[in-house]
Amino acid sequence: MNDIAFAAPFAQPAGSPIRELFPYLSRPGMISFAGGYPSPGLLDGEGLAQSSARVFAQGGAAVLQYGATEGQPELREALARMSGDRGVVCEAADVLVTAGSQQAMDLLVRVFLEPGDTVCIETPAYPAAIQSLRLAGARIEPVPVDDAGLQVDALEAMLRNLPAARRPKLLYTVPTFSNPCGTLLSPQRREHLVRLAMEYGFLIIEDDPYGELIFAGAPVDSIFASGRRQAGDRNPVIYLSSLSKTVAPSLRVGWMVAPPDVLRRCAIAKQTMDLCTSPITQLVALDYLRSGRCPAAVQRAREEYRRRMRAMVDTLRQTLGDHIDAPEPGGGMFLWARLDRRLDPQALFQAAVQQGVLYVPGAAFYPAEPDHHTLRLSYAAPDCAAIVTGVGRLAQAVAASLDP
Ligand code: PMP
Repeated sequence: MNDIAFAAPFAQPAGSPIRELFPYLSRPGMISFAGGYPSPGLLDGEGLAQSSARVFAQGGAAVLQYGATEGQPELREALARMSGDRGVVCEAADVLVTAGSQQAMDLLVRVFLEPGDTVCIETPAYPAAIQSLRLAGARIEPVPVDDAGLQVDALEAMLRNLPAARRPKLLYTVPTFSNPCGTLLSPQRREHLVRLAMEYGFLIIEDDPYGELIFAGAPVDSIFASGRRQAGDRNPVIYLSSLSKTVAPSLRVGWMVAPPDVLRRCAIAKQTMDLCTSPITQLVALDYLRSGRCPAAVQRAREEYRRRMRAMVDTLRQTLGDHIDAPEPGGGMFLWARLDRRLDPQALFQAAVQQGVLYVPGAAFYPAEPDHHTLRLSYAAPDCAAIVTGVGRLAQAVAASLDP
C-alpha cells in the first residue's frame, strides 16, 4: 500500500480482546466460558424458521425493499410495548431500531462526542463500549463498581472534583445483570444516579440486554423509569436493549429509546452507516414477537441459565473455593471472579487453554489500569455437565500454575 496515513484512532488500533480469543474456540473439545453467547439450544430456532417462512410467503415490497432508517413501523410499536413492560414507557416514535444495541451505542458516541470530551463508564465495563469510546477519542473516566453495581457515591465525589470543562457528557452503565460483573444496581443508586445526571448535566446510557434474563422475582425498574419520575420530559436517560440474548443475536436487532432531538440525529448518523437495519430480519423479529412464542422461550432460558449458574458457582466453590471468589448473580450470563493473589489470570489462561477451557482475563474490561486478579466466566453457552468438566479443568490449570 502507499503511505497514506490512517486516521489517528486507527493508527495503532487494538481489536476486541474477546474476539481475539476466537481462534481457541475451534480447538477440538474446548469448553468455553469466554463469550457472552446465548446457548443455541435455548434459542427458538423452530419458531424463527416458521416466522421466516411466513415473512417470505407473505412477500411484498417490505420484505425485499429498503426500509425506513428508523425501523419498520410495526416493529417499533412492538419494541415500544416491550420496553413499557420494563418501565420504559414510550411510543413507537421514541424507538430507533438498530443493528444490535452495539450500533445504538456507536450512534450515540458519534452524535455526542468530540475528541477530548469526558465520558464516565462503570469499571470493569463491557469492552465494546470501551472500544467505541476510545475510537471516538473520548476522555474516559472509570467509575468503580461493587456488589451493588456502580458506586454512585464515588461518582458524586469525582464529579465534585472535576473542573467544569471536564464534566462528563455521558455515563455508560449496564445496571441490570451487568457485563462483566453480573451485578444489579440497587434502586437507591438508580435514583441517586439520575439526581446526579440532573445536577451535573450529563446523559445516562442505560444498556439493558440482560434485564429479561432475571432468575427469580419481579423485573427491576429501569433507570429510565426513575429518570421519567424525577425529570419528566427532561429525562436524562437513554435506554438501549436488544433481541440478541432473548431471541437470537444473528437477527442483529437492537433498539434505542431516546427523546426526539437525539433520535433524529442518531437516525441521520445511521443513514451514513447502513441506511437501515435489514428489513428481512426486522420482519422476522416482528412476526416472532407476534407469534406468542417468545415469553415461553425466555422463561426456558431463565430457568436453564439459573441451573447453569448454580452448577458453575457450586463447582467453583467445591473445587477452587480457596482460590477464587465469585459473587452469585441474580440473572444474566456472567460471573465475575477474583483470584487468589498468587495467581495471574494471564499466565493461568495459557494453562487453562492447555487443559481445554477458556475464560476472559479481567484486563479486557478496564479502560485504564486493570485489576490483574480478575476474570469473567460465562455460564450461558455450555450445559451443566460441560460446566462441571470445564471448572474441573480450570482447577487443574490452577493447580499446575501454583505448583508448576
Ligand atoms: N451491550 C452489552 C452489555 C452486551 O453484553 C452486548 C453483547 N455482548 C451488547 C451490548 C451488544 O449486543 P447486540 O448483539 O445487541 O449488538
